[in-house]
Amino acid sequence: MSAVLQPQAARDVLIQLSDVRKSYFSAEVETPVLHGINVTIHQGEFVAIMGQSGSGKSTLMNILGCLDTPTSGSYVLNGKETSKLNDNELARVRNQTIGFVFQGFNLLKRMPLIDNVSLPLLYAGVPMTEARRRGAEKLAQTGLGAFTKRLPNQISGGQQQRVAIARALVCEPALILADEPTGNLDTATSGEIMSLFTRLNDEGMSILIVTHELDVAKYAKRLVRLKDGLVTFDGPIADAQL
Ligand code: ADP
Ligand code: MG
Repeated sequence: MSAVLQPQAARDVLIQLSDVRKSYFSAEVETPVLHGINVTIHQGEFVAIMGQSGSGKSTLMNILGCLDTPTSGSYVLNGKETSKLNDNELARVRNQTIGFVFQGFNLLKRMPLIDNVSLPLLYAGVPMTEARRRGAEKLAQTGLGAFTKRLPNQISGGQQQRVAIARALVCEPALILADEPTGNLDTATSGEIMSLFTRLNDEGMSILIVTHELDVAKYAKRLVRLKDGLVTFDGPIADAQL
């Protein structure tokens, strides 16, 4: 069969959430937070997840990032059913598949940028020289090739987030998950970081960001809106009532 005749569904599915529910339990009291999430994301997409405080964004991100598992339902990441994995197995999937970017950058203060970026490779068993070579490559890719020997406090907040993005890319993940990546940055710098994400997406990287800022979400191509643990909108950002 010719490739052009293949159905849309044959495109590479990266994330498939099917009726994902999540409750927190304390002292035998169940607090349901996600009430049946169905979302499919293909490789190469750039998706923003929005929703008011308390709508379940962080809970969903923790599941997507393999930091937590659903109470019921299925989460297939890159072909692997993750909902039944134990903590060690989740850690392995997480390290091999996902690059994380956080609001607070989370760099190690006493380490030069090059070591901050290459550290995940050392954890993965890559020898130091090779890890540094690849780390330098990623720093160059995020515009910081000249700053490899600096410490995090010798560069600006926007530059620190670029370092964090380089670190997220260094193990060649299938997906970048970013939780409020511009939350600590001014408007102009937020725009620069979002432009960097746009460029990485143009180069093929799949990107999922959580944000409560419309100006940030608009850089994505698709919006998923959460309300009270349910998806209330899922479609092209141009079709969203922003
Ligand atoms: P968001 O990130 O959109 O603000 P969260 O996913 O953090 O939302 O929280 C959604 C709901 O789940 C909130 O009502 C919150 O109080 C509740 N919640 C979050 N984490 C826990 C927890 N560990 N135990 C009990 N309830 C929680
Ligand atoms: Mg949150």
